[in-house]
Amino acid sequence: MNCNECRYIMFDYIDNKLPVATKMEMETHLNQCAACAEKLARLNEEQLVEEETPLGLFWYLFKPSGGYKRSFFLGAVLTLVFVLYLMYSKLRGVF
Ligand SMILES: [Zn+2]
Repeated sequence: MNCNECRYIMFDYIDNKLPVATKMEMETHLNQCAACAEKLARLNEEQLVEEETPLGLFWYLFKPSGGYKRSFFLGAVLTLVFVLYLMYSKLRGVF
């Protein structure tokens, strides 16, 4: 197995979806290849953070390496909060 193959099936490996023979082949490669082993360790950590902590969503929103989709989502949420706040202040003025 080479690095490309190894990385291609890495997610299946984490989800434990690989046939035993492929899994063993991959583990052999991981023992020989520090780069792939490190990549797997990183993927495992990310999965732990997102699946097993109650702060998963929070972490997803505020972790340092976010994409542009996340910024868009954050912007939408902040705008909504701001609008709700404005409506609330107006209501308080009326009653
Ligand atoms: Zn490799």
